[in-house]
Amino acid sequence: MTRHLLSAADLDAAGAYEILNSAEQMDAIQHRQVKKLPALRGRTVVNLFFEDSTRTRSSFEIAGKWLSADVVNVSAKGSSVSKGESLRDTALTVAALGVDALVIRHPSSGAAHRVTEWVDCPVINAGDGTHEHPTQALLDAFTLRRRLGELAGRHIVIVGDLTHSRVARSNVLLLGLLGAQVTLVAPPTLMPAGVHTWNCSTSWDLDATLAGKVAGDVDAVMMLRVQRERMGTGSSGGGRAAVGYFPTEREYAIGYGLSPARLDLLPEHAPVLHPGPMNRGLEISSIAADSPRSLVLDQVRAGVAVRMAVLYHLMAGADEGSGRTGTTGEPHPAAVHA
Ligand code: ASP
Repeated sequence: MTRHLLSAADLDAAGAYEILNSAEQMDAIQHRQVKKLPALRGRTVVNLFFEDSTRTRSSFEIAGKWLSADVVNVSAKGSSVSKGESLRDTALTVAALGVDALVIRHPSSGAAHRVTEWVDCPVINAGDGTHEHPTQALLDAFTLRRRLGELAGRHIVIVGDLTHSRVARSNVLLLGLLGAQVTLVAPPTLMPAGVHTWNCSTSWDLDATLAGKVAGDVDAVMMLRVQRERMGTGSSGGGRAAVGYFPTEREYAIGYGLSPARLDLLPEHAPVLHPGPMNRGLEISSIAADSPRSLVLDQVRAGVAVRMAVLYHLMAGADEGSGRTGTTGEPHPAAVHA
């Protein structure tokens, strides 16, 4: 197992399956009355968030707590970051407090990687700018695998603001590792630079793609948020376009939103995913978001189990050779205390 989780590319197929399979076991504890495993008792996890988050931060917090770790949340607002402290000084300060794992979200691509140069504990990238969000890709794969079975040979379509999406990049890497075929769909202005080097096909035509006319029948569609906050000025709601990316929000919704009519183009077995937060009426209609095909809340639920598995593997793995409890030869903690 990798020491840090900075990118989906840090995993090989065996490592990815190890986490997904562990997450299946961790998920069982959601249904218990006492949601606690002792696996990380006495260990401290710090969530260092320089960007807003609802799902990711709270699920890392719950995951750590269900594994009996002490979890501390530090956010830019309310910390010395708002007084101008640098990322390096903040990371060194947090590390000096005696941290066993650092979960970091930062608006700059590469920030999590930089932090590994300054601290001595496992670092988990919870989203770095427009670069990567590996635990999101793992929870998406977990959710898809539960619905579709093994993902090898499945065709997953990812649609939306790909230029600003760290979720898209991590998903293309991980789904490729698991043997799935990926098609990315966006207007030309929202296709990432260099996408031709990615392991996927691309299209500007959502209707044709969903109807299976571009890259074959579709097994799932993942809608991504239009990230107005990364699009510069003039990008607020009220129907105004994010300057330069598309003419108006209404036109974006017509061209690339998952409308009820587009939902009907999908084969019956194909679910709808969205990492959240959703812009209802823009990239996804409420009918699609709330339909029985929607796995949006399953994704949120999977976030806890997947992050428990990631924390367990990285932190227990870090113990090996240090004389503390490790994974080698030991039964899985969720199995021991089932
Ligand atoms: N929550 C995801 C992320 O942090 C997706 C999004 O914000 O649109 O990247």
